[in-house]
Amino acid sequence: MNIDLSGKRALVTASTGGIGYSIAKGLAQAGATLVLNGRGNKSVSEAVTRLQAEVPGASVSGVAADLSNAQGADALVSAAGMVDVLVNNAGIYGMQDFFETGDDVWDQYWATNVMSGVRLSRALLPAMVEKGWGRVVFISSESGLNIPVDMIHYGLSKTAQLALSRGLAKRVAGSGVTVNSVLPGPTLSDGVAGMLQAEVECTGKPVEEVAADFVKEHRPTSIIQRVATTEEVANMVVYVCSPQASATTGAALRVDGGVVDDIV
Ligand code: NAD
Repeated sequence: MNIDLSGKRALVTASTGGIGYSIAKGLAQAGATLVLNGRGNKSVSEAVTRLQAEVPGASVSGVAADLSNAQGADALVSAAGMVDVLVNNAGIYGMQDFFETGDDVWDQYWATNVMSGVRLSRALLPAMVEKGWGRVVFISSESGLNIPVDMIHYGLSKTAQLALSRGLAKRVAGSGVTVNSVLPGPTLSDGVAGMLQAEVECTGKPVEEVAADFVKEHRPTSIIQRVATTEEVANMVVYVCSPQASATTGAALRVDGGVVDDIV
């Protein structure tokens, strides 16, 4: 299967690193024009330069905007203009016990993980519908199905994304626009590597080995028994953004290494 996204303009939020950068790279390799996003001008311009170097000939621009608030989302929409593909990847995570999680943290997770996608979809979906083609993807998580006991606030935000994605798919029914969620399992992104850094320094083991130990201890149902790479997650997203994926909509697609112990 050859995926050709030439002529398509794609916006991937939070794409200066981690899963978002790999998705942007995969879409650029398929020929799409990319708009990258991160919070700082420096990280955005570095990511643009890196992507142009890694995918020669790629058309890439970037917009610095903090998507945890409405002003940031508005600024991104104005600067990005019309897009054919929107990947709502921006998301924060971290462990915190429920009884120590105050309203400020709950608000921050809701704003960043859910409202960013609400605002961008509301602004950018209508033009896709008018055009009769578009792809919206929410990067949710297996934690939206297996609510982690030490990250209930995060799990809730990821379940909310599934509801949003399914609802939007139905809202634009018959338009040629698909809306889906992709659910990664533990994935060795920059953020996760940072979380494991102390253990890497303490044990002297390579980060992949520390990550595999983490999976065995905290996600014992993992069938692959290791973290996924960001490219493995990106491959699913690139497919779901492709013309070939036109009959897949309203779906929750797992790239979780089998962590969710369920057949469907
Ligand atoms: P990461 O921490 O490695 O990278 C996140 C990027 O988001 C960074 O470039 C950062 O600058 C940017 N960012 C953070 N807050 C932002 C904001 N308010 N506005 C704009 N940009 C912002 O993250 P990751 O691990 O690649 O995760 C990406 C997505 O995948 C998240 O939605 C996360 O919940 C989801 N996910 C990750 C994993 C995993 O194991 N890594 C598993 C399941 C789901």
